[in-house]
Amino acid sequence: MRHSCDPLSGPFQVPRYNSGKQFEEDRRIRILLVEDDDEIAKRLVEGLSATGFAVERAENGVDGFHMGTDDTFDAVILDLGLPEMEGIDVLKRWRSAGNSTPVLVLTARGTWSEKVDGLNAGADDYISKPFHVPEVAARLRALIRRASGHTASAISFRDITLDLGSGSVTRGGAPVEMTARELRMLNYFMHRLGRIIPQSELVEHLYALDESRESNTIEVYVSRLRRKLGADLITTVRGLGYRMG
Ligand code: CA
Repeated sequence: MRHSCDPLSGPFQVPRYNSGKQFEEDRRIRILLVEDDDEIAKRLVEGLSATGFAVERAENGVDGFHMGTDDTFDAVILDLGLPEMEGIDVLKRWRSAGNSTPVLVLTARGTWSEKVDGLNAGADDYISKPFHVPEVAARLRALIRRASGHTASAISFRDITLDLGSGSVTRGGAPVEMTARELRMLNYFMHRLGRIIPQSELVEHLYALDESRESNTIEVYVSRLRRKLGADLITTVRGLGYRMG
């Protein structure tokens, strides 16, 4: 799976491949999965391998930390509740050591504070258990695309661009003023283009546990985003939720 280090052909030369199979193997995206639960790990390894990822697994935080430090992966799937070293500490250590490999955090459903901790520690995205493997695959691809392509960490949809570093938004090149919560919501939608997002999921994402969680305020924020960024930006899918794109 490793790229060969033939001294005669440096990394910037076109690699030579012996066969189609070799080419295919070298092209596989390498994922590190740090997960102690055997069943979840099996499902992810099998499901992701079937869609062309090469997955290596660590069963505890310490092994995961070392594998992610000693080797290069395209992305990491990181469980937070891990033996020997908590996922959050694994992530913090990587980030403080300058390791910027994209990390998708796995959280138990409804543990909002875990998600916040994960994002604060440098996670690039998170996904709740139980999850669907195709969604994990799609998120990983998006993370890897973003990590490999970004000269600036910005995400665009139509004429709207969200700069993830500064949190600034432009529409047709003109700056749009947004509140922190509007930004959170826009960011959430933009990373899930084409997906119907249930109102409950938006509530969970938008509010901390100690705040009152009113689902009708989601409508308020959606209509604010529409007013600022385009009336048809977000579609209401009656009975199911909202969709951007
Ligand atoms: Ca676990």
